[in-house]
Amino acid sequence: MTLSVAIIGSGPAGFYTADALLKYRDDIEVDIIERLPTPYGLIRGGVAPDHQTTKKVAKKFERTALTDRVAFYGNVEIGKDLTLAELRDMYDAVTLAVGAPADRKLSIPGADKKGVHGSAAFVGWYNGHPDFQELEPDLNVDAAVVIGNGNVALDIGRLLARSDIGRSKTDLPEYARAAMDESPVKDVYLFGRRGPADAKFTNVELREMLGLTESISMVDPSLLVDSAPDDMDDRAKRLADKNLDTMRAFAQRDPAKFEKRVHFEFYASPVEILGDDHVTGIRMERTQVVDGRAVGTGETFDVPCGLVVAAIGYRAEPIEGLPYDEKLGIIPNDRGRIDRGMYAVGWIKRGPSGVISSSRPDAAQVIDHISEDFGDLKGVGSKSGRTGLEKLLKDRGVRAVSFADWQSLEDAEHARATHPAPRQKFTDVDDMIDHLDRPTS
Ligand SMILES: Cc1cc2nc3c(=O)[nH]c(=O)nc-3n(C[C@H](O)[C@H](O)[C@H](O)COP(=O)(O)OP(=O)(O)OC[C@H]3O[C@@H](n4cnc5c(N)ncnc54)[C@H](O)[C@@H]3O)c2cc1C
Repeated sequence: MTLSVAIIGSGPAGFYTADALLKYRDDIEVDIIERLPTPYGLIRGGVAPDHQTTKKVAKKFERTALTDRVAFYGNVEIGKDLTLAELRDMYDAVTLAVGAPADRKLSIPGADKKGVHGSAAFVGWYNGHPDFQELEPDLNVDAAVVIGNGNVALDIGRLLARSDIGRSKTDLPEYARAAMDESPVKDVYLFGRRGPADAKFTNVELREMLGLTESISMVDPSLLVDSAPDDMDDRAKRLADKNLDTMRAFAQRDPAKFEKRVHFEFYASPVEILGDDHVTGIRMERTQVVDGRAVGTGETFDVPCGLVVAAIGYRAEPIEGLPYDEKLGIIPNDRGRIDRGMYAVGWIKRGPSGVISSSRPDAAQVIDHISEDFGDLKGVGSKSGRTGLEKLLKDRGVRAVSFADWQSLEDAEHARATHPAPRQKFTDVDDMIDHLDRPTS
């Protein structure tokens, strides 16, 4: 009797779950359904193009996908090509691993002006995500502002401040590489509401700023306290102390030697985007931390800039037929359980925080739930599973992309890359399908 499990989404959370399911039982069949023709979620579409080593985890997931009890259905979107209810009718269990793809909105006057972008859109654009290839942000600016004090903000700041040499080893799509290489940007400002000890940058990423040959990172030394507050938990304090040390090291480099500057600015919160149609600057309000919260002081200052990227977090999108937690931006669940046979993992379950491997424990919880719900195998095997899915997709004329198709796309991406770039990505779904369906001579 085979237990059929569908996983919606092929990011880290989906793949960790597939892997855990394969190890849990031999009599299990796992189908991964992905709205894009390409797998791996934010590993492909989020992780920075100059962090190729991080992306190597995809090789591990590839081994999972190539297991014969796993099938990949790319270019199939739940909610568009078929409904969640239809999927549940076909599979014993369904796991949501759809991530949290939407930007948390910057809610200040002027935020809808041209030149203001959310990080999901901006990062998606420079990573060649098909949803964002038409964003075409104007990088013909002298100064850019990034709101946020986490690794996403740091990725954006670093990429804008790298020279063409630094970017040539990346898998930036040609359009993004050209826009960045031609950008005259000299000053990139990263703004945090709190102080340097509260910044959420991981230290490895922050230290990377010291190695950039073309830009210098700067911070007001008077803000660099000797050590992080003692009331922080041990782990957070250790990280904050390391970050403070790294920021102190910024001052050891000579600004005169660098063409570009990344300004780490603290205790400031955005209040208004300035300009007519297009952003020409941003008004910031000084903050102070009172009882652990950053509050405005009423003192404002303006920073001229032609580009603003808000890296202030992500949220999941509501899914038809399921409750939605507006405040947390997730699908409510109990340790990943939504109801019998329906689970959630990754960012849709926990919210948008943590690294790739943070989704591994979610997969272990799914195994607990499956064992509780289906351990006695009652009713298992009566659903149509993979056969039912394939029939439905065929009946609806959906051009599903198999894992072998994806491998063919990937081979083409490698083949058309110019050394030392690792790949030249397909960024358009129609181009991907054309490539796959083009008759071979
Ligand atoms: C900009 C950025 C940079 C990051 N950099 C790093 C890093 O360097 N190192 C690190 O460890 N972590 C990094 N992270 C964090 C890491 O990417 C996440 O922790 C992880 O990707 C979350 O996994 P997930 O599977 O929940 O979501 P995702 O990776 O978002 O995967 C969700 C998948 O579901 C698919 N999907 C969505 N809706 C549907 C639907 N209706 N039907 C079918 N499929 C659907 C999506 O297309 C996507 O492939 C970064 C995150 C961001 C945003």
